[in-house]
Amino acid sequence: MRTRIKNIVMTPGVTTEAHIPFIDDAEILIDGQRIVYAGKKTEAPAFEAQQEIDGGGALAMPGLTNCHTHTPMTLLRSVGSDLTLEDWLHNAIFPLEKHLTDDTVKAGTDLGVMEMLRFGTTSFNDMYMHMDSEAVSVQETGMRALLGYGIVDFDESCSDFPPALELMEKWNHKANDRIRVSLAPHSETCTTKKLLDRVLDASLRYDLPIHIHISETQCDRDDSLKRQGLTPPKYLESIGMLERPVIAAHCVWLTDEEIALFAQKGVVIVHNPISNLKLASGVAPIAKMLKAGCKIALGTDGVASNNNLNLWEEMKLMPLLQKGTMLDPTVVSPAQTVAAATSTGAMALGYRDLGLLKAGNLADIILVDMDRCCPGNDRESDLVYTVQGTDVTMTMVDGKVLYHNGIYTTLQPELVKSRAKKEAEALFKRAEKAKSGANK
Ligand SMILES: [Zn+2]
Repeated sequence: MRTRIKNIVMTPGVTTEAHIPFIDDAEILIDGQRIVYAGKKTEAPAFEAQQEIDGGGALAMPGLTNCHTHTPMTLLRSVGSDLTLEDWLHNAIFPLEKHLTDDTVKAGTDLGVMEMLRFGTTSFNDMYMHMDSEAVSVQETGMRALLGYGIVDFDESCSDFPPALELMEKWNHKANDRIRVSLAPHSETCTTKKLLDRVLDASLRYDLPIHIHISETQCDRDDSLKRQGLTPPKYLESIGMLERPVIAAHCVWLTDEEIALFAQKGVVIVHNPISNLKLASGVAPIAKMLKAGCKIALGTDGVASNNNLNLWEEMKLMPLLQKGTMLDPTVVSPAQTVAAATSTGAMALGYRDLGLLKAGNLADIILVDMDRCCPGNDRESDLVYTVQGTDVTMTMVDGKVLYHNGIYTTLQPELVKSRAKKEAEALFKRAEKAKSGANK
């Protein structure tokens, strides 16, 4: 399909620029999955389009990347509110997750993808179980994702390792390369050295990135110190893992030395401000990390600790939290925030041709209605602080429109919601039955 997006203002996006550039009277031309031209309408080449999308003056920008989530947890929305991370995980979440099935995960992923598309997220980085179902959902819905089987290992059996490799064999680079696979050991706390050595070996052999939770809570860090004599970042360094591409979720409790280490090794730190606040894990020192040259991406984390997949909320909170805690309004610019939500996340997923709107890149594009930002005094500021997720009017992945003005092209919202309700109910029943059986 050859598509023209016209009547738009455009930002090609940012990487390390100090300011977000905007181009008025712009046009984007797309052939198949790639952008042919993105810039001033007057300089566009001749192009015969089969499909014309009239932006109606909206802003076109790169789609957002949710760089750390557990999408099927949409079915556990609002479960176990107001608990500490350890209590929440072990007493509210894990007992339910024991009873997941392929159908539960498929229903939860469909619901999650639907929500992400609605709010302009065009790709996500996930760690969970029953990943075959998640991959099928990504394939069917037209989404883009880096998927990792969430590996835990408490007894050195490494029994989760084979399914992680099976996921790679079956799905890496599938669905027109919209699906890529990572290795996803849960955290230092939930794994063994034997398991992490295998992960490292497979990461090298198959060229896979590693996705892991790092120093999410103070307890996480202190437990690692007790067990390994090292904090999680130092432990990963000691076993050679930082020589590989690592996506480190949270990093709330890093020392200055560890921040310098992650900057030097090019680790992508995924900031999940809402989840960290809700579980009272703390506030990651993002301003310090940016100053040190760290790569920062943004994530929602699972819906059970958020409670939604609307990344615009994280975009607003990222600079606000730093300003408020450092008592300095000059830290964290709109450009740094937009880069975290777009180009840095896309790069973390392993794509070199994603996250910026330019010729040759993959056409993951969203349209944002800036009407509510009236009178439009400062577009950079409006984009981060004024715009809301519901202002997204169109979401395109790989050159295909998946959401436009309330209409989904690959999902039937009523069906997705009724399946999600049914599967959530069945899951709670299975867990309740097992619990009452165990109490007898
Ligand atoms: Zn997580």
